[in-house]
Amino acid sequence: MATEDAAPPHRADHGGHPDLDATDGPAAAAPATGEPAMADPPFRRDPLTGDVTFVVPKRQGRPNLPDSGCPFCVGGLEAPEPYDVRWFTNRWPALPDGRAEVVLYTSDHDATFASLGTTGARKVVDLWAERSAELGARDDVRYVLVFENRGPEVGATIAHPHGQIYAYDVVPPRPLDELRRADPSAFDDQAAGPDEERLVARRDGWRAWVPRAATWPYELLLAPSDAVPDLPSLDDDARTALAALLVDVLARLDGLFDRPMPYMMWFHQRPFDGGHWPEARVHLHIVPIWRSAGVARYVAAAELGGAVYFNPIDPVDAAAALRAVDPTAGALAP
Ligand SMILES: [Zn+2]
Ligand SMILES: [Zn+2]
Repeated sequence: MATEDAAPPHRADHGGHPDLDATDGPAAAAPATGEPAMADPPFRRDPLTGDVTFVVPKRQGRPNLPDSGCPFCVGGLEAPEPYDVRWFTNRWPALPDGRAEVVLYTSDHDATFASLGTTGARKVVDLWAERSAELGARDDVRYVLVFENRGPEVGATIAHPHGQIYAYDVVPPRPLDELRRADPSAFDDQAAGPDEERLVARRDGWRAWVPRAATWPYELLLAPSDAVPDLPSLDDDARTALAALLVDVLARLDGLFDRPMPYMMWFHQRPFDGGHWPEARVHLHIVPIWRSAGVARYVAAAELGGAVYFNPIDPVDAAAALRAVDPTAGALAP
């Protein structure tokens, strides 16, 4: 395992664990633009907190809402031809060089992820895997983060079902911390509780449960029982199981308060840096932001200030509430 003194992120060092480094990171490798940002690299680590920020002021120019029509519907700006699923490079990228993509889950504007059904969701899983592999094969990509912001409450400016992918030229701090911690209890048989009291649903080798130390009321973790390292490595059965489980739990989240649950979700997977990561296991974090119907759970000053979180819902109760929802009877599913 690497230590805190991990080798600097030189790609030739295949045995090392690339880390963010303000003096030798992506900013140094970025193409010269002649802009002041080069003198003060946009990728910065705060000397006091150690937090990493990518300063992207140009994104402030992106539209909050399209001027006319949905750009993701067939015939729209980003989807001229009929499609089932589709990806394209983000027109307003947070990362340069084609390393920010948008993934459209369906051409149906009014669909939810749950309404895609297992067949439709499987196409999304395949596209996530395909894009992870293609982006991960690039020399300037060390980590592929597949994610979604769902709902205006978390800043999704277009309602059409879609997610995003960021391909970093470093391994970001959060997944790197998880890999270094490599705590076997994160995914073992007890992860869902001794009596599976925090288990919400399962499908053929995949489980969804509320973490014991969840920081958000209805937070979920989805992981396979087998230590499959990344999305491209999931076999046919595992991809279908993931699709079915996602449809299940996202239907439960929408059914919990009988309205579309705003959430953030992201996959963690093996870094695509050529390094040796035996502890990597693909998994999905889902963070719904409501603690009751329409009531957001805010991260408060004591939590940001102390990095100790205060969860108003016992994870055992959260899991029981989600188990009690019938995922096939959701009012939102067509
Ligand atoms: Zn649309
Ligand atoms: Zn994770």
